[in-house]
Amino acid sequence: MPILNPLHFDLHSHSTLSDGTLSPEALVRRAHAQGVDVLALTDHDVTDGLAEAAATAAEVGLRLVSGVEISVTWSGVTFHIVGLNIDPEHVGLQAGLARLRAIRTGRGEEIARRLEKHGIEGALAGAQAFATGPILSRTHFARFLVEAGYAKDMRKVFKKFLVHNRPGFVPGGWATLEEAVGWIRDAGGQAVIAHPARYRVSATRLRQFIETFKDCGGVGIEVVSGSHSANDVAGMAQYAKRYELLASCGSDYHGPEQSWQELGQPMPLPEGCVPVWKAWATDWEKNT
Ligand code: AMP
Ligand code: MN
Ligand code: MN
Ligand code: MN
Repeated sequence: MPILNPLHFDLHSHSTLSDGTLSPEALVRRAHAQGVDVLALTDHDVTDGLAEAAATAAEVGLRLVSGVEISVTWSGVTFHIVGLNIDPEHVGLQAGLARLRAIRTGRGEEIARRLEKHGIEGALAGAQAFATGPILSRTHFARFLVEAGYAKDMRKVFKKFLVHNRPGFVPGGWATLEEAVGWIRDAGGQAVIAHPARYRVSATRLRQFIETFKDCGGVGIEVVSGSHSANDVAGMAQYAKRYELLASCGSDYHGPEQSWQELGQPMPLPEGCVPVWKAWATDWEKNT
C-alpha cells in the first residue's frame, strides 16, 4: 500500500530562470490547476524565480517550497543536488551559485567553439537567445540546434551533440559535493539527491556517492522522479531505507514542450519510505 498523501507534493520543477519554458508565475498557476498542493521551484544554480513564484502561490493558495538544483562534479561525473526550504537570501549560498553561473558562461563559450569546429556557426548567440534567465544550459544549445535543423528533437540532439564523447560536450567543473550540501545546510535547507537512477555510474559508485553525500550532511533522495521507471522507484526506495534517507518526489518539469512528466501526476512513495516533508507537514496540515 502506498503512503496516502493528504497533500499532493511536487518537489522538483524548473522555470524560465533556468531551462524551463514557463515563467515562475505560469508554472505555479499550472501546478495549481493540476492539483499540486505543495510545489518546489528548483531552478538550476539560481533562485531568482522564487519571489515571483511565492507571490503567485500566495494568490492561488498553493504552498511554495523555496528550492534550487545545484550542479556538482563528483569523481569526474556530474550529479545534481536539490536543496529544499533554503533561505534564498543566504550570502554563502548565493556566492556559490554565482560561481556556478560564471562557470556555465565559460562552458557555453567552449561548447560554441567546439560546435564551430564541427561546422556549426552561431551556436553561442543561438543558445543565448533561448536563455531567458541568468544561466546558460545545454538545454538552450539543444533548442538552438533543433531549431536550426541539426537534429529532430531534444532527445536526439543531446545524444548527437551534447553528451560525453560528442562534439559539443564540455565537462563542467561544478561545485564539490561537500560545497553543495554545505551551502544548502548553511541556508537552512535539506539536501536531496536528484533523480538518482539517471546517473551513468555503476551501482557501486552510486552507493559510494550516497555514502559521501550522507557524510556531508545530505538527508534525502528522490525516490520518485519524472525520469524514473517503476523499477527505478523500487530500487531507490531500497536505497532510501538502507541509508536512512528521507524520500522525495518531483516531476522535474521543464515545460509543456519538454517534459519527463507532467506537473501534478500522482506520485505516491512506496511503502516504508519516510517522506522528506514529514518534518514540515505537521504545521501545514493544521492550516489546511
Ligand atoms: P546542463 O546543466 O547545462 O549541463 O544541462 C542539463 C540539462 O539538460 C538537464 O537539467 C536537462 O534539463 C537537460 N537534459 C539532459 N539530458 C537530456 C536529454 N537526453 N534530453 C532532454 N534534455 C536533457
Ligand atoms: Mn534542466
Ligand atoms: Mn537534474
Ligand atoms: Mn531538474
